[in-house]
Amino acid sequence: MSQKIRGVKGTRDVLPIDTYVKDDDPWVRVGHYDLVEQSARDLFPLYGYREARTPILERTELFVRGIGEVTDIVGKEMYTFDDHGDSLTLRPENTASLVRAYVEHNVNQQEPETKWWYLGPMFRRERQQRGRYRQFTQIGVEAFGSPGPRIDAEQIELLDRWLRRLGLAFEMHLNTLGDAACRPKYRQALQSHLRSRSQELCEDCQGRIETNPIRVLDCKNPKCQEVAAGAPRMEEFLCDACKAHFAGVQEALQRLGVRFVIDPKLVRGLDYYTRTTYEAIATSGLGAQSTLAGGGRYDGLVRDLGGPDVPGIGFAAGVERMALLLAQQGKERATQPLVFIAPLGEAEAARADQLAQELRAAGLSAEVSFRKANPGNQLKRADALGARFALVLGDQELKAGRAKLKELRTGAQHEVSLQGIAGEVARLLGTPR
Ligand code: ATP
Ligand code: MG
Repeated sequence: MSQKIRGVKGTRDVLPIDTYVKDDDPWVRVGHYDLVEQSARDLFPLYGYREARTPILERTELFVRGIGEVTDIVGKEMYTFDDHGDSLTLRPENTASLVRAYVEHNVNQQEPETKWWYLGPMFRRERQQRGRYRQFTQIGVEAFGSPGPRIDAEQIELLDRWLRRLGLAFEMHLNTLGDAACRPKYRQALQSHLRSRSQELCEDCQGRIETNPIRVLDCKNPKCQEVAAGAPRMEEFLCDACKAHFAGVQEALQRLGVRFVIDPKLVRGLDYYTRTTYEAIATSGLGAQSTLAGGGRYDGLVRDLGGPDVPGIGFAAGVERMALLLAQQGKERATQPLVFIAPLGEAEAARADQLAQELRAAGLSAEVSFRKANPGNQLKRADALGARFALVLGDQELKAGRAKLKELRTGAQHEVSLQGIAGEVARLLGTPR
């Protein structure tokens, strides 16, 4: 036998069956992902967000400029390679890509306000652990062109409703990072605090003092957290415009009935965020990697990437973490066949194929057995597939043109006519057609 080839570390197969993933306790199947994705597809358009698809491959420069050189992502996590003289990168997040597309297609000249959402794989070379992979899936939204606080609140309410619909337990955290007018002063004050206690910080954070001091605030190291607890707060440094914006977001959230907690330590790892930042944090089930979604305003990014001075705000949610929680709750999107048909002989097999065809043509899912097995084993197979009904087709049934449709959950038997099978099944489901 030849040697097996294994998947790449930090990536995973998501299959319709149970698969073993080190670090994940429940098995995550495609049905769990599907539930997350379908609920976004259903919900986001109700808020005016339309789907946008951009390439996985982008020029490296986009992320270096868009995310910032001193961030963990650009500093050490990107999958970058040379493509005959061009440096390309597998996207580590999608905001920079959507902004590139927005600028490249002059979208602001066609519409003053734009709302896009996306879904897809992202790539970061991080240490693999529960809820952290090297290829992972994000679903996110971006709203361009709206500077006021009402859009911030609307977007946070969308995230809140989505996670609630999925039955996930979380807390919405809210903070403000100030803007170009007030953040530099805060940064200086923070830096001098951190410099005075640099000996107590982890190695990464010692480096961050000069490059990205705000990031020290959300370091997971307990010692860094202690230093962060005594640090000056952004709140005290906010300019009047940022203060008013932050108050406006909170008022709008209260009007919409969204619960949130103010979290002065909440910062985002990426350079481009200004003013409003928020995170939905799971309250149980995920351990250390508990942030389900992170979002915020990035008013300078479109301009930094060569576009007009257009504000933006968005969030990105981690689908793997959400799927893991749904798996823990045993919730997934069903893909089981409605009817399992088991023919016992050759002539029956030919008829079974037609019956399945009729059901499918009527929009009802059907699966036919292609294996020879006795009725008992066929029913077991139907059960394992999670089918709702099983139909065993023997010589007698074929002659009579009638058969018993067995409801597997209850054991109830319904006699149906094979002629017009789709109508019979629809009638049993209580959906007249
Ligand atoms: P964290 O602090 O959890 O590393 P982050 O600030 O790096 O998050 P963002 O870039 O804001 O995360 O991404 C938004 C969401 O995407 C995260 O809250 C998380 O749910 C998910 N996410 C980020 N990185 C990964 C990863 N490597 N594997 C799985 N999910 C991820
Ligand atoms: Mg990260």
